[in-house]
Amino acid sequence: MNTQVLPVNEESIVLAAKLLQQGELVALPTETVYGIAADARNGEAVKKIFEAKGRPQDNPLIVHICGMEMLHGIVSEVPERAKKLAAAFWPGPLTMVMPRGPEVSEVTCAGLDTVGVRMPSHPVVQAVIKASGVAFAAPSANLSGKPSPTNAQDVFTDMDGRLPLILDGGECDVGVESTVISVVGEKPTLFRPCRYKLPDWRDDEAVYKKLFAILEKLKDGEVARSPGMKYKHYAPKADVTILKGSFDAYRDYIAAHAGDGVWALCFDGEEAQLPVPAISYGKEGDGISEAHNLFTVLRELDRKGAKTVYARCPLSDGVSMAVYNRLIRAAAFRVVEV
Ligand code: AMP
Ligand code: MG
Repeated sequence: MNTQVLPVNEESIVLAAKLLQQGELVALPTETVYGIAADARNGEAVKKIFEAKGRPQDNPLIVHICGMEMLHGIVSEVPERAKKLAAAFWPGPLTMVMPRGPEVSEVTCAGLDTVGVRMPSHPVVQAVIKASGVAFAAPSANLSGKPSPTNAQDVFTDMDGRLPLILDGGECDVGVESTVISVVGEKPTLFRPCRYKLPDWRDDEAVYKKLFAILEKLKDGEVARSPGMKYKHYAPKADVTILKGSFDAYRDYIAAHAGDGVWALCFDGEEAQLPVPAISYGKEGDGISEAHNLFTVLRELDRKGAKTVYARCPLSDGVSMAVYNRLIRAAAFRVVEV
């Protein structure tokens, strides 16, 4: 299959809309990361997403809409809590898991009786949904297990020959995937953090506590509450280890472990002080910049041929929690206290 990469304009939006209506795939930018879209109602179309990504069939997709009226048929009920959160956070990087409606394909939800829905703020996604009238399922536009792409070139690297169209809308702003929260049942559950700061959730003690649970690796035999949680995610080719401690301890540890293919993943301004080649993923303590850069930098390390990467540990609260959540998966949960 020939993969076209087109800049965003009226013509390419119309083409994207047509492809979606015909049950084809389109990769496009959102405010979080690039996604691969297919009509969420069309099981055959959605199957193509799983094939293109090599994504396990039991990992459900998030449905994207551009107005509250589109929830009709997608969910069977909009819980009160969902209405409040939608008013506060939509459009934006918040996915809410709700009872599944009759029109969503089983393939989209991996057979679950719930569905994750989000209303993105990115103008390109909104334009494509409006032009097509299609609520689409859209996971990140990477091969399964690789870091999510935050620019069209990274999408092309993974998806060349696997889908007909990539809309190039520049770099994504947020850089990590949406917050996923379940609003089914009495207590809300947070499955995946994004860039909302903790105080946004503090009024709800149950949610706040759950935030920490997802940072821990699942124990053997434990059942994942949100299917995506069980996979090793976001992994570059190199073995990544997070080093927790002061900068001096970090530098000394790397000096003792320097060698061929060893790289440091550090914070701004530290590169020149390290005994191995180093690349920064943002300003220390600035979760917004770390989130924005993380996936791009992980892919950059692949291109540089890094074999072993020692990463500085981000904070694990506030926006940095989303960064820690992704980095610890990229590191296959290897964390060393230095
Ligand atoms: P991705 O599309 O790669 O951003 O992944 C979406 C993630 O959202 C999945 O891996 C799940 O962890 C979560 N998710 C989506 N739908 C549901 C659902 N119905 N129930 C629980 N988690 C969900
Ligand atoms: Mg993904």
